Amino acid sequence: MSPSNLLSVTGLHKSFGENQVLKGIDFTVHAGEVVALIGPSGSGKTTALRCLNGLEVPQAGTVAFNGGPEVSFSAKTTAKQAQVLRRRSAMVFQGHHLFPHLTVLQNVTVGPLEVQKRERGEVMEQAAKLLERVGLSAKADAYPNSLSGGQQQRVGIVRALMLKPDLLLFDEPTSALDPELVGEVLVVIKELAQEGWSMVLVTHELAFARDVADTVVFMDGGVVVETGPAAKVLGAPSNPRTQGFVQRLL
Ligand code: ADP
Repeated sequence: MSPSNLLSVTGLHKSFGENQVLKGIDFTVHAGEVVALIGPSGSGKTTALRCLNGLEVPQAGTVAFNGGPEVSFSAKTTAKQAQVLRRRSAMVFQGHHLFPHLTVLQNVTVGPLEVQKRERGEVMEQAAKLLERVGLSAKADAYPNSLSGGQQQRVGIVRALMLKPDLLLFDEPTSALDPELVGEVLVVIKELAQEGWSMVLVTHELAFARDVADTVVFMDGGVVVETGPAAKVLGAPSNPRTQGFVQRLL
């Protein structure tokens, strides 16, 4: 693996029963790089993303972080074996994924305290800083159902950052939001990208992908059709399938 590679994904295959969803996916993420996964609905983008941190277990292929862990999948790989990948990454979901019975502060500190077993004072200090950063200090003791969708997503981002991951994974982070709330979430993601966070972003916001992504991976039908610099893939795609998709949406 080249030293600047943070993550290498090779030959990922994933089926749900008879439905072959990933048919050999390859891509890499360099340190500090923002990779956008784009493509038609049902092309396997979310499934590919979920394989990167063991939320789905592929039947073949390899997910390798520079410095480990590295998991080579087979039909026998267990969910527990796949979950070692979570040491390096953290996921931000579409929405509605916060624990409803926990406050904002409890939502963002439960992982560091209970799973990572970190020291309480340090965790609380980090949570205060991150909630302030996304403008939600005043909501620390609120429950998720009292927050707007945009606020909930910002809490979701803080929850992921609290785990101190090397790679952030975003699964269509704005698709469940009312249009007027999309901007406040995209702003936070863009700031994180500018700060040098490494991220993989599944998105149908192509204008946003063009704005923040270094690299765009276009998937269709469970394969990677085209990969390249964002300006090239979104501005002058070489594959006709990419051209058709981009022309419709940009
Ligand atoms: P995309 O993110 O590109 O819209 P997905 O990865 O969500 O695509 O879905 C690709 C295909 O995988 C779809 O046909 C979907 O029905 C199927 N799929 C995804 N998750 C599951 C699951 N847990 N069980 C069965 N089928 C699934």
